[in-house]
Amino acid sequence: MGVFRKLSWFFRREWKAYSLGVVCLIFVAGLELIPPKIIGTTVNGLSEGSLTKNDLIRLAGTLLLIGVATYFIRYFWRFHIFGASIRLGRLLRSQLYGHFSDLDQSFYKKYRSGDLMAHATNDVQAVSMTAGAGILTLVDSVTMGSFVIITMVTTISWKLTLVSLLPMPLMVYLTSRYGKMLHSRFHDAQEAFSDLNDKVAESISGVRVLKATGEVESDVQTFTDLSDDVVQKNRRVAKIDALFDPTIFGLVGLSYIIAVGYGAYLLQQGEIRIGDIVSFTTYLGLLTWPMLAFGWLFNIVERGRASYDRIERMLAIEPEIKDAKEAATTVSSPELQVGIERFIYDTQPVLQDIDVTLKPGKSLGIVGKTGAGKSTFVRLLSREYDVKQGAITIGGRDIKQLTRDTVRRQVAIVPQDHFLFSASIADNIAFAKPDASMEDIMEAARIAAVHEDILGFKEGYATMVGERGVTLSGGQKQRISIARALLADCPILVLDDALSAVDAKTEEAIIHHFRTADHDQAQIIVAHRLSAVSHTDEIIVLEDGRIIERGTHEQLLAHDGWYKETYDRQQLESLVEQGGRSNES
Ligand code: ADP
Repeated sequence: MGVFRKLSWFFRREWKAYSLGVVCLIFVAGLELIPPKIIGTTVNGLSEGSLTKNDLIRLAGTLLLIGVATYFIRYFWRFHIFGASIRLGRLLRSQLYGHFSDLDQSFYKKYRSGDLMAHATNDVQAVSMTAGAGILTLVDSVTMGSFVIITMVTTISWKLTLVSLLPMPLMVYLTSRYGKMLHSRFHDAQEAFSDLNDKVAESISGVRVLKATGEVESDVQTFTDLSDDVVQKNRRVAKIDALFDPTIFGLVGLSYIIAVGYGAYLLQQGEIRIGDIVSFTTYLGLLTWPMLAFGWLFNIVERGRASYDRIERMLAIEPEIKDAKEAATTVSSPELQVGIERFIYDTQPVLQDIDVTLKPGKSLGIVGKTGAGKSTFVRLLSREYDVKQGAITIGGRDIKQLTRDTVRRQVAIVPQDHFLFSASIADNIAFAKPDASMEDIMEAARIAAVHEDILGFKEGYATMVGERGVTLSGGQKQRISIARALLADCPILVLDDALSAVDAKTEEAIIHHFRTADHDQAQIIVAHRLSAVSHTDEIIVLEDGRIIERGTHEQLLAHDGWYKETYDRQQLESLVEQGGRSNES
């Protein structure tokens, strides 16, 4: 029952809803004791021939009144107790969501996002159930159970009560045991289902590779195996589930038999009257639910406890990169200075001796082979990881001494794996600046050379993207991401290989817009195609984490090195490509 104590902060907060709900519950439990008594009195009156017409009308009227009253009061407590439990679900969900958004990459490397979602959903549901059905079963089994037993003992016969209730503890024991078994089997079934889900997601995203390598058949076989596993585990759940009803009905039936049999004996002895047996069996019926609820309660509480513990553990995980105490929220100037002595992920240094300065309005190109450390450089700028040896400063202040929010406001990054939300194109562009005007949104789209494309869609800027909307090409998505970053209007804009999916002409257009745009935004362009950086004020060439060449495009071309070699090769490739295209046409 510790989980109720742990949730006490919530019960205190919702004390009004809970006290109203509990009072109503107890009131209904009291009301429900009356009808069996009325039925017993009626039967006694009938059997003894003393029942008048008026008595009958009065008794039936009371029954009706009680029926109507319980109907409304039940509605009332459900509304209050379950309403509160739904609010708890919402609260926990938004706490988790806020927390998940605050955590960094290292967390997401450790946990699979499918798992996080599944746990968050199931756990929140289990805790919310504890605060709803848990409270209901606790109050109901205790009050209703004790009310009924007290009434049976005091108004009918303690002997009959004692003997008839003998099978009940067995029922509590069995149902709670089945419940536990059901829970663990259900958990297995859920795991199997989650594996199956992961498998499907993986196969769908890798379908091209699967087809290309001819692995489809073995993939289908794995799917079938996993699918069989799900069926088998669910059958195990069904087997236990199917035990519940027969057990309950069997034991309740046994109670009835004892009640009627022993009751008849007591009747013969003159200890009770016929109507009492009728009332008694009705009370027995009323007792079934509290007994069941009692068995159920343990399971709800057990699940709620495990889930709440997991949620607490999740909420306790702190981001590796936190805002420093008294971190600053402003910078004096947006001048960027990168001085990385060494940066290591695991064992090997990935960046070494990097020093660059980027003044407002200037641009920097970063090129180099795959694995040279370009993306790592960008990640360090956004504080995805922190530099331990050396420092990155903005306006002379170490970015570790700035809040992450401040860094985000200074540096806008267009990542390689751009992400669009299922919303309109305009909303996607205005993501970082929801109050942007339509003109501003269009201006950003124009600079990113995607304005014309957007106008070409049926609903223009209101066109929806995502599964239920238009399918965009890789290049269009990239350009929308660029427009989004442009609109954010940060002093430093970083394009992390963000022009890779646009053709050479569009790239040229975007770069032209960048150069002519009248602002002092600094730009860092990471690229594979050297044409994307040829205009920048300085270019650095990275190899194995070190700067091996640096200078302007012209300076770099003036001496033989990686840059010149790659530039010549790419020029040749584009000539060949163009030649190929003109031959085709
Ligand atoms: P580039 O962007 O130039 O292709 P990266 O910065 O992605 O290069 O990678 C540089 C090196 O760091 C590579 O050897 C890569 O394997 C390694 N690396 C990248 N990310 C991580 C990481 N999260 N953990 C460990 N090593 C990493």
